[in-house]
Amino acid sequence: MLPVVALVGRPNVGKSTLFNRLTRTRDALVADYPGLTRDRKYGQAKYEGLQFIVVDTGGISGDERGIDMEMASQSIAAIDEADVVLFMLDARAGLTVADEMIAQHLRGKGKTCYLVANKVDGIDGDSASAEFYDLGLGDVHQIAAAHGRGVLQLLRTVLDPLEDEFPDMHVPEKTLEEEELDADAQLERLQSQPIKLAIVGRPNVGKSTLTNRILGEERVVVFDMPGTTRDSIFIPMERDGREYVLIDTAGVRRRGKINDVVEKFSVIKTLQAIEEANVVLVVVDAREGISDQDLTLVGFALNAGRSIVLAVNKWDGLTQDIKDDLKRELDRRLGFIDFARLHFISALHGTGVGNLFESVQEAYQAATNRVGTSMLTRIMEMAQVDHQPPLVRGRRVKMKYAHAGGYNPPVIVIHGNQVDDLPDSYKRYLMNYFRKSLNVMGTPIKIEFRESK
Ligand code: GDP
Ligand code: GDP
Repeated sequence: MLPVVALVGRPNVGKSTLFNRLTRTRDALVADYPGLTRDRKYGQAKYEGLQFIVVDTGGISGDERGIDMEMASQSIAAIDEADVVLFMLDARAGLTVADEMIAQHLRGKGKTCYLVANKVDGIDGDSASAEFYDLGLGDVHQIAAAHGRGVLQLLRTVLDPLEDEFPDMHVPEKTLEEEELDADAQLERLQSQPIKLAIVGRPNVGKSTLTNRILGEERVVVFDMPGTTRDSIFIPMERDGREYVLIDTAGVRRRGKINDVVEKFSVIKTLQAIEEANVVLVVVDAREGISDQDLTLVGFALNAGRSIVLAVNKWDGLTQDIKDDLKRELDRRLGFIDFARLHFISALHGTGVGNLFESVQEAYQAATNRVGTSMLTRIMEMAQVDHQPPLVRGRRVKMKYAHAGGYNPPVIVIHGNQVDDLPDSYKRYLMNYFRKSLNVMGTPIKIEFRESK
C-alpha cells in the first residue's frame, strides 16, 4: 500500500509540471487503476527513495459551471480518495478568488492539506508567499516545480508523518554492491541476446528498399511472425559474425510472395519497435529534407534511451549544391544529437549501406560498455575539479561517488549532498564531461542523482 497524494489547484499553477517531475523515471507508470475514471491522471511517483501514488486532479477553480463542473467534481472525488492534498498556488500570480474558493472547500473536508507556493524561482519567495497564509491552511511551502527546487523538502514534510501507516513508501535501499550486481546482470542479459535493430522513418523514405538491400546481402531466414498489422516483422540475420534481429516497421516486401501487403505507416508500430530495439536506425529522405516528423521520431528514440544511427537516404543523383544545403540543414536541426553517426546512403544502389553496420556496432558497444565504479567516480571527481558545482542556498553541492546503474542506455548514478538541486546547466556539463571522457558515440546517456543519507 502506498500513500496517495493529490495535486489540487486552479489551472496553470504548475500541477502537471510537478506531476511530471515526480513520475518521470522510466519505470513510472501512468496507468489506469481499477475502478478509477480516466479523467484523473494517476502516476506512481518515485523520488529520492520515496514512492507513492500521485494524482493530478486537473482543473478546479471553485466556481465551475457546466462542463467545468464535471471536471471539478472529478477533482473533488480525487481529493476524497487522497491521503494528503497538496494545494498548489502560483507565487507569481498571487492569491486569486479561485484559490480562496478551493481553500474554502478544503477546509470543509478536514483533509491533511499542505499549501504549496510554486514558481518561486527568480523571485522573492517569502514576500510572494506571505499573503497565502491568509487562507488559514497553515504553513506555505515554497517550490519551483520546473526546477525541482524545494520538492524534496516538501515531500519529506508531507510523507514523514505517513511513515508508520505506509512503510512500503520507502524504496528498499540497495547497497552499492547490490546496485553494481543488478547493472551487471542486466548487461549479461543484453549481451546474451542478438542486437535488435529497428529501421524507422516516415513512409516512402526507403525503409523497405533498405531492408531488402541489407537482407539481399546476407544469408537470412525470414520467418512469418503471426500478428496484426500493428506488429512489426522480426527478421533474424547475421553480419560479421554477430547475430541481429531486424525490426522491420515497413512491412517489407517478402521475396517469394506475390500478394504482399504494403502496410501503412503506423506511429504506434514505430513506437513499439523503438521500445523493443537496442539500436534505432532512423531513415530520412534527402529529397524531402528533414521534417518535424523526422525530429519527432528521433525524439522518441532519444527518450526511450536507444542507441541511434541516422541514415540520409536517396543520396544518389543530387547536385553538389543540394547536398551542401542539406548538410547545413542537418547540422542545424540535428545538432541536439551530435553523438549519433550520420550516413549518406542510397538504398536503391547500395551505396554506403555496408558502412551502416559499423556505426550500429559502435552504438551498441557504447550502450553496453561496462565501466566500473572507480573509473566513473574518478571522472566525476575530475569534472568537479575542473568546474565546481554551484552553491545552492549557501551550501556547495557535493558529489561523492558514481557508479553504473544500467545499460542501453548507460545510466550513471551520482551520489552526494544536495545533488538533486544541481541546475540543469551543470547536469548538462556533467553529461558532456562523461561523454567525452568515456568517448561515448551513438547512445544517449542518463545521469541519475541520489541524495546521500
Ligand atoms: P497546471 O495547469 O496546473 O497543470 O500547470 P502546468 O504544469 O501546465 O504549468 C503552467 C505553466 O507554469 C507552464 O507554462 C509551466 O511551464 C509554468 N511553471 C510550472 N512550474 C513552474 C516553476 O516552478 N517556475 C516557473 N517559472 N514556471 C513554472
Ligand atoms: P518505405 O515506405 O520507407 O518502405 O519506402 P520504400 O522503400 O517503399 O521506397 C519508397 C520509394 O523511394 C520507392 O519508389 C523506392 O524505389 C524509392 N527509393 C528508395 N530508396 C531510394 C534511393 O536510395 N534512391 C532513390 N533515388 N530512390 C529510392
